[in-house]
Amino acid sequence: MNNIHDTIVALATPPMKSALAIIRLSGENSFSIVSNVFSKNLTQVKERSLHVGTITYQGELIDQVVVLQFIAPQSFTGENLIEIVIHGSPLIAQQVIEVLIAHGARAAMPGEFSSRAFLNQKIDLIQAEAIHDVIEATTLEAKRISLYALTGQTSEKINPLRIKIANLLSLIEVNIDYPEYEDIEIASKEKVITDTEAMIALANQLIGEGEKGKIIKEGMKVAIIGEPNVGKSSLLNTLINEDKAIVTNIAGTTRDVVEAELNLHGIVIRILDTAGIRESEDVVEKIGIKKSIQAIKEADLVIHMLDATSETKIENREVLDILKEKKVIEVFNKKDLIKDHDAKRLYISALKKDIEPLLNKMLEAFGLEQANYYTPSFNNSRQLGSLLSIKKHLIQAQEDAKADVTMDLISSSLNSAYEAIIQLMGLEGKVNLGDEIFSRFCVGK
Ligand code: GDP
Repeated sequence: MNNIHDTIVALATPPMKSALAIIRLSGENSFSIVSNVFSKNLTQVKERSLHVGTITYQGELIDQVVVLQFIAPQSFTGENLIEIVIHGSPLIAQQVIEVLIAHGARAAMPGEFSSRAFLNQKIDLIQAEAIHDVIEATTLEAKRISLYALTGQTSEKINPLRIKIANLLSLIEVNIDYPEYEDIEIASKEKVITDTEAMIALANQLIGEGEKGKIIKEGMKVAIIGEPNVGKSSLLNTLINEDKAIVTNIAGTTRDVVEAELNLHGIVIRILDTAGIRESEDVVEKIGIKKSIQAIKEADLVIHMLDATSETKIENREVLDILKEKKVIEVFNKKDLIKDHDAKRLYISALKKDIEPLLNKMLEAFGLEQANYYTPSFNNSRQLGSLLSIKKHLIQAQEDAKADVTMDLISSSLNSAYEAIIQLMGLEGKVNLGDEIFSRFCVGK
């Protein structure tokens, strides 16, 4: 059973041959369990320390090891914690873990060390999620923003909004509960409208930064769409510098969605070259078009390619409707074939590898064109969902104030916005909203 009072043990490094490996234990009985098999008694140690010694079980020497001892609450999990540095043999790792389990430890579940750190409030939910992100990051840029989250810099970014909401809520509550107090500012509808305006602006800023951060961390999905023969496959090939998509001058050659990945100034771009979109009776081509529509739906950005030498346009209603909801860059290909350039249009030549203006526009679409765009951000889907919910409740509070509804109702929307912040940070049950609000006022009652 997954009991939080158990002392848990796991191999913290990959189960393969290496110079060293680390076995980690956390829980109340860590020190006594290890002392049973280690050459030193660790139960009386009073400060964080390092010990060199041996692990022996039933008279047999298992390994010579280094033990790092962390005393609660000064450890990653907030519990008594031990890291045993062993020689990097999977056999030794298995033996040591078995011996520790024989003395009362339990094999940890995936993520259990981090979840204990979270439960013991050593880290908040944003930091807990960042542990995975730091390990998974494949670009330096993604690692950098994940480290902001891991070290708590991201979490701090919600504080200005949290304080603003709590201030307004407390003012409203005090006005409702203590109308006889004359020296307290009046919580007027005008004040609610002005204050929520500033809060919504803050929420919008956090959402914008989060969307940018999501692209830096997870990459940008880009769908290239357009009529057959405008040069979509040629663009894909130029982008990835190899002939992955088949380029021909027979309309309808790309019948499936071709995927490729490239790194554009540290941003992973996943390109989906779609089948040409035109009305067709060909069964295979129809399936290709269906897949294209799916690719467009999934894309963060759509490159709508047109042929600079002809005026053909996508006419498929379904596609045009989806495009309305998307970030779209309209680009005219085959620049090399025309003489007159319309200043309002973005031109490239996929064949001549003249695509720099398009690459810049792709980064600009997400505000990623400047070199210093790295900022701590709430950037996974859960965090962005919470931010959208905060914003929704703030807009509701403002609309209510404008519609002149009762302060009770306005306060309820602000409360919901505050609750959404608590959820974002994973602090449900750990923060008492009433305490936080009333701590702001010393009304002597
Ligand atoms: P798709 O059907 O949209 O994928 O188009 P392709 O990439 O297969 O290109 C169709 C034809 O246009 C091929 O003959 C390409 O060589 C040609 N083409 C593509 N891009 C350019 C360009 O920038 N300039 C010129 N002159 N021809 C191009």
